[in-house]
Amino acid sequence: MTDWDYAPAPESRDVVRLRSSYGLFIDGRFSEPVDGSSFKTVNPASEEVLAEVAEAGPGDVDRAVAAARRAHTDVWGPMRPAERAKYLYRVARLVQERSRELAVLESLDNGKPIRESRDVDVPLVAAHFFHYAGWADKLQHAGFGPDPRPLGVAGQVIPWNFPLLMAAWKLAPALAAGNTCVLKPAETTPLTALLLAEILQQADLPPGVVNVVTGAGGTGRALVSHDGLDKVAFTGSTEVGKEIARTLAGTRTRLTLELGGKAANVVFDDAPIDQAVEGIVNGIFFNQGHVCCAGSRLLVQESVAEPVLDSLKRRLATLRLGDPLDKNTDIGAINSSVQLDRIRELAAAGDAEGAQRWQPACQLPDRGYWFPPTLFTGVSQSHRIAREEIFGPVLSVLTFRTPAEAVEKANNTPYGLSAGVWTEKGSRILWMAQRLRAGVVWANTFNRFDPASPFGGYKESGFGREGGRHGLEAYLAEGNETLGPPKAELSGDGARHG
Ligand code: NAP
Ligand code: MG
Repeated sequence: MTDWDYAPAPESRDVVRLRSSYGLFIDGRFSEPVDGSSFKTVNPASEEVLAEVAEAGPGDVDRAVAAARRAHTDVWGPMRPAERAKYLYRVARLVQERSRELAVLESLDNGKPIRESRDVDVPLVAAHFFHYAGWADKLQHAGFGPDPRPLGVAGQVIPWNFPLLMAAWKLAPALAAGNTCVLKPAETTPLTALLLAEILQQADLPPGVVNVVTGAGGTGRALVSHDGLDKVAFTGSTEVGKEIARTLAGTRTRLTLELGGKAANVVFDDAPIDQAVEGIVNGIFFNQGHVCCAGSRLLVQESVAEPVLDSLKRRLATLRLGDPLDKNTDIGAINSSVQLDRIRELAAAGDAEGAQRWQPACQLPDRGYWFPPTLFTGVSQSHRIAREEIFGPVLSVLTFRTPAEAVEKANNTPYGLSAGVWTEKGSRILWMAQRLRAGVVWANTFNRFDPASPFGGYKESGFGREGGRHGLEAYLAEGNETLGPPKAELSGDGARHG
């Protein structure tokens, strides 16, 4: 419908120096895995192989945990908190200095639009390091007792949807609280975590304080079940989260889980429609819908359903899908062929169960993994597309008549990560926020993140909070909990989870 066309505006890839192969980052340097295994990571927008990456086996995980333990005992644990803060400030500044490089590499490896990696992911990474650098020497004023101490060594496993940002969410609070880390990035997106490792070297972070073990699910399993950890932090699917909870049950390793979601974005009849439509689009089409807190269920009040949907469809027709490195791109590539299959399968289930699929006219590139922005109307609560996390650019639309019905439908999910409310009335926002069973409730906005604000779930979305003062709690020992040796050396079980 537009009379104007955009000229291509690609960001240059030249800022990134891709190496043909990458090693594991253990004890401050890059090294080959013990058994020499590797895997390939691809650009999902072109299927081009970007690099060969080392795959860590149990022996490598062992080396990494041992390095982290030494670094904790000898260097990072005893270091004055104000000194730790200096390292974190330095990392934050280096992330800012190298932000273009990080953003381009993130878009290449993940498929997300450069506009998002450049304007959202990377600035938030720097913001997280700045925020937690500020906490490092103020822990005794954080409300965790007069003498909060680090737990020790943290094993951290993260997903592919915000590869660098999830690394920052994990590392920054752990390091600020005096812990050392072994981080396992996702198989499809290991490259920015490895570039971050280079930045840590550049910042002179003492060897072993952060270790990065790349690999697939098996590497993650070897890490979370390693008996030398004091803490496991996991972000990913509810299924894997449950498995990890079973593995750690009865041990003294502390655990936090950030899992899936199926958020309701609730639009009342008094909401400003244009603003709400922008919020709906941002809620589900940001990052191709690969967002745990995505507003994947639109609940719209029946009396305004028609104008909201008309306006939403007009807006969707203007979204530009294509080259993630083009600065005009709104919707990039789906992260992997596996994820694309899952989205297709769930969308087909939507058709089969009788919902109506709508997609704007949209040319998909020949190569790479793509799915057009999609909405389903005529969705009922029992449909799979209303219950299961699609983790793609697919919105399921339901309607409601009264606020009470909106609350009931919004909460009718095993998840509880986030929710959105669109209304002009402040009192209604508060009424809704009290009743929605979700860790985060956005009002007249969606997908807003700030390092000072805690984030986390209820129910099957997990437990524990990341971000802000709350995010420190998961990495600090409390009461008479001791800064202990690895649990293999302890007797008794004293389980403590969450
Ligand atoms: P996933 O399969 O659970 O993977 C997450 C991470 O765990 C990856 O690094 C993965 O490695 C690793 N892993 C796989 N199996 C493992 C095992 N048995 N033991 C230990 N680690 C294992 O999830 P995903 O499909 O990549 O990510 C999408 C999910 O993450 C969605 O459900 C989404 O909602 C959730 N998520 C939640 C948040 C949040 O903050 N709540 C944020 C982002 C995403 P490989 O990738 O190499 O297999
Ligand atoms: Mg990749």
